[in-house]
Amino acid sequence: MDYFQLMKASCEDVNLTLDETKFNGFVTYMKLLQDWNEKINLTSIIEDEQIIKKHFIDCIKIFKLKEITNSLVPSGDKAKRKRIIDIGTGAGFPGIPMKIMVPELNIVLLDSLNKRINFLNEVINTLNLQDISAIHGRAEDFARDNFYRNNFDFAVSRAVANLAVLSELSLPYVKVGGYFIAMKGPSVEEEIINSKNALDRLGGKIEEIIKVDIEDTDLKHNIVVIKKFKATSNLYPRKAGLINKNPL
Ligand code: SAM
Repeated sequence: MDYFQLMKASCEDVNLTLDETKFNGFVTYMKLLQDWNEKINLTSIIEDEQIIKKHFIDCIKIFKLKEITNSLVPSGDKAKRKRIIDIGTGAGFPGIPMKIMVPELNIVLLDSLNKRINFLNEVINTLNLQDISAIHGRAEDFARDNFYRNNFDFAVSRAVANLAVLSELSLPYVKVGGYFIAMKGPSVEEEIINSKNALDRLGGKIEEIIKVDIEDTDLKHNIVVIKKFKATSNLYPRKAGLINKNPL
């Protein structure tokens, strides 16, 4: 299979262009993922074709939300770059594919497992990515730090928790007027109903649900776009145990 053409078509679907340099970046990332996965648990998806479709192309689909790229400033003006935090990034999804595709983004990758942070630092160094950092800790702890709280244009997250829990972990990071983007699987209806109270309390509102087809598969995913319309109370996020045991 011609992976370059497959990925190129997926990028065109979100109005981005895949060139050889970016494609080579993805190939290097894939090799590191496969090598490190023999030593530490990063992903259960290990074959080239599956990594390309279920990780890379799936993550690139986040750019269906045009707000991420629409307001990008020229790469020279670092201070005005869009800031993104990837909550529970794991092996770097969706943050690393986003950065490879759109280098002008400023990205923080957050995960509570230090081994995964070590892997991400290796990816960042090998690909020589700039304006990206990987931090180790729990989302509910960093959300109390003024350097992170209310400081991002976008919080993004894939496959970490249900929408109510994830909103409590993620919305505190977002500036008023910014977005929390949750990458979800085929069915989201029930999660959406169950997250209504959490979103009301946290200052978020579902603006759009974007349906996504992954090329050359039967996979149908949903991107839930939540706009932050008012500041999140300092009551949130609560302590780790409470968030999961007693979702808002
Ligand atoms: N986002 C990646 C993906 O789509 O492949 C990883 C998903 S993995 C199933 C969930 C990740 O979230 C794990 O790496 C875990 O360590 C991290 N995680 C779970 N709860 C977290 C929390 N409260 N704070 C930070 N990271 C968390």
